[in-house]
Amino acid sequence: MALVYEKPAAQESASSSSALAAQIELNPPAQAGASGSTGAPEPGNARERRAPGIGPTLSGDAADEVKSQVFARLDPLDAAGFTRMGRPRPGEWLSSFRESPQPMELYRMQRPVRPTPERRTIVLQPLGEFTPGQRKVLESMREYAEVFFQLPARLERTMPFPRGDEALEEQLVRIVPVGQRHGSYDRQYRAETILDRMLKTHLPADAVVYLGITMEDLWASNLAYVFGLGSFKDRVGVYGLCRYYPEFWGRARGPGDELKGLHRSCKVLNHEAGHMFGLSHCVFFHCSMNGSNSLPETDAAPIHFCPVCQRKLAWNIGYDPLKRFDALEAFYRAQGLSEDADWMKARIGNWKNLLDKQAVVEEEE
Ligand SMILES: [Zn+2]
Ligand SMILES: [Zn+2]
Repeated sequence: MALVYEKPAAQESASSSSALAAQIELNPPAQAGASGSTGAPEPGNARERRAPGIGPTLSGDAADEVKSQVFARLDPLDAAGFTRMGRPRPGEWLSSFRESPQPMELYRMQRPVRPTPERRTIVLQPLGEFTPGQRKVLESMREYAEVFFQLPARLERTMPFPRGDEALEEQLVRIVPVGQRHGSYDRQYRAETILDRMLKTHLPADAVVYLGITMEDLWASNLAYVFGLGSFKDRVGVYGLCRYYPEFWGRARGPGDELKGLHRSCKVLNHEAGHMFGLSHCVFFHCSMNGSNSLPETDAAPIHFCPVCQRKLAWNIGYDPLKRFDALEAFYRAQGLSEDADWMKARIGNWKNLLDKQAVVEEEE
């Protein structure tokens, strides 16, 4: 027994855990350029809600002041290869949402989740069914998590969606009405229920973050669909990957689709796990931590963390940036993501020059 897909409710339920401490990911309407759909806009809207108490909301001038202070402290060698965010174009994330900058000092004050000797593994939890090809993507994502965050990462055995508990299934699953379906996807899974009933209850003792990954389509609160949902405090998040592949949109796979799917999956992994390590959306540069209103906007963002976001992560985890950049270049190269590998190679060159420059400064002092 499943709930029927409803028009979005005006208010989300206050009892929902997501209303307290969750962050809802991008939810682009159907015309988001992903062709093959019915073309009709889906109910719900693209919204990513911020957990209460995550940071002050700064308005225009104050936010610009913080941003210019951050830019003034950055070395051009560190920022090379990144483009500063300009004024948003209509339809883009920042045209709909005011995002406050999160400089380093604020990030540290917010006491983000950090690895400890007991909890330092990124645990990826497959949920539901995967084809052998999709399992290969999961394995690549595990490797990527290890390289990107410089922490151990583990892929758990698949956890099936619960069957037989009618009350739970009623919360978890809804049927999508025929006119709003994509491809063969006739049902959606509720992200909050996955967090509450499948992930929080199984949090591994060594997990710094515990990330559910599914090929099913997700929805949350009153939104038509979400790419993912995560909690800042509870270390759990869930991401649906189906919308990154043409089958969802009723198209057959073409050349390049597989690599594009992997690229999008890795990007959502670093972005979402970034949130779980306490990073807010980036308003400084075009960066993987940018908010996004649509799949094309997500595709347009780089997979890389800008110098501001990279610095937060380096402080949080305590890795050696150069070692990490080298490993990232090797990963992109091995996966056939040669543009990103070349980009990373240039970043490594700039980083080495930056280290040399700093060494000279230290000598002179
Ligand atoms: Zn986000
Ligand atoms: Zn950034």
